[in-house]
Amino acid sequence: MVICRASEALKIMQSEPAVTLHAPYAPSRPLAQCYDAVVVGGGPCGATAATELAKEGWNVLLMDKDGRIKPCGGAIPPRCVEDFDIPDEQLVARIKSALMVAPSGRQVPMPIDGGYVGMVDREHFDEWLRERAVSHGATRLYGTFDHFSRNTDGSVTVHFRSKDADPETPLETVRTMALIGADGARSAVAKQAVKNADRVPCVFAYHEIVKSPEAEDQKADFAPTRCDVYYQGRVSPDFYGWVFPHGPHTSIGVGSANKGFSLRGATKTLREVSGLDGCETVRREGAPIPLKPLKKWDDKRNVLVAGDAAGIVAPASGEGIYYAMEGGRLAALATSRFLETGDARALAGARRNFMKAHGRVFWILGIMQHFWYSSDKRRERFVSICEDPDVQRLTWQAYMNKKLVRADPMAHMRIFFKDLAHLFGLVSPGPREQASTAPKPQG
Ligand SMILES: Cc1cc2nc3c(=O)[nH]c(=O)nc-3n(C[C@H](O)[C@H](O)[C@H](O)COP(=O)(O)OP(=O)(O)OC[C@H]3O[C@@H](n4cnc5c(N)ncnc54)[C@H](O)[C@@H]3O)c2cc1C
Repeated sequence: MVICRASEALKIMQSEPAVTLHAPYAPSRPLAQCYDAVVVGGGPCGATAATELAKEGWNVLLMDKDGRIKPCGGAIPPRCVEDFDIPDEQLVARIKSALMVAPSGRQVPMPIDGGYVGMVDREHFDEWLRERAVSHGATRLYGTFDHFSRNTDGSVTVHFRSKDADPETPLETVRTMALIGADGARSAVAKQAVKNADRVPCVFAYHEIVKSPEAEDQKADFAPTRCDVYYQGRVSPDFYGWVFPHGPHTSIGVGSANKGFSLRGATKTLREVSGLDGCETVRREGAPIPLKPLKKWDDKRNVLVAGDAAGIVAPASGEGIYYAMEGGRLAALATSRFLETGDARALAGARRNFMKAHGRVFWILGIMQHFWYSSDKRRERFVSICEDPDVQRLTWQAYMNKKLVRADPMAHMRIFFKDLAHLFGLVSPGPREQASTAPKPQG
């Protein structure tokens, strides 16, 4: 197998005409004709993969179609901030508690003891990530991937259209030894490279970005450091609704896999219920959230997918940013091994390592979503379970650190028996002592 190191790419570049691109979407440096790796998609996954590959000294092209802010609640755990060196200024809010709302309207506060949920604004966060990749040596290109074709020397030709190109002109091309598809849900790269990639089950999520209410707004049931999570059939028959503050803006949205369910109608209801219907709407947008990791992430030759493209969003919560970045990091590691050795089996390491670290959590969350989100009766009990201090502590620890907490076997036992009691209807899902009527935490 021929490995196309940066120096070789340069030789090819000198012997072939360069791709012509036009301002203002010119690439961050002149394009070569061949790269060690091309990463398609400049979201958290692709930008992280490009950064890691560039840090290793590979010649990387980061191709992103640009022009659309990713619809997203923007919640990330401290583990994400630490692992990926996210600077403070990227956090537009630090959330100190969650408020779980049951079908009956009963509210269960879940304060975070000694931690926080970070909020990023995807408009600025993704751009910052892409520029970080460039600062480590990746070349950035504004272009839309169309398809790839294979060459006899083992390389791949990526066919794309640069951002300002005339749609009538032929597609442009660039060659690479390895291709990473980080082009999000319903990925065009995955569709071509990985069998059944287009059959990943998705929840469709829709949200409205509004101007956050002023402190004196009496009508709004809102706190700038609290995330509200609605488990109500009218808001979502199979997922949940949310109010996530982002400093000056707030994301109010819902998700559902039920195609006949009106996400816009449910968001309207949610805005009314939370008293946020009067807030000025800044944007309305939606996108699918894939909720099941693909069985294969690579084509056993030289193409690998990660992030939403590989279906790695946590079931039940829809959390995908941390997993996309972790997937991007592992995809870069596997690609680096492949480029060093020419052994395509190295590509499978990305999925293997990811599932080893997170497969169990995904499995548990999948069962949880399937069971507890299936009727209002169960949702009512689910919110009751969240009242339990052991559940709260272990949930936050698992979320913040991205590890299942093993240290406290008695707490696990207590939760297990309380879960059983709820499952068999041995306890009422109604208020326990005065907890349900406790005042809402204000952050
Ligand atoms: C409404 C909503 C709310 C969410 N809230 C949260 C949350 O609060 N916390 C959380 O952790 N996760 C949340 N998620 C999930 C999270 O947004 C995703 O899991 C995460 O963005 C995945 O990152 P990615 O890099 O894999 O894909 P994406 O972020 O989707 O990035 C893909 C990139 O590829 C580019 N692209 C696509 N096609 C092409 C192409 N053909 N050619 C070139 N470029 C292309 C796109 O422009 C984009 O930049 C939410 C999702 C939705 C829809």
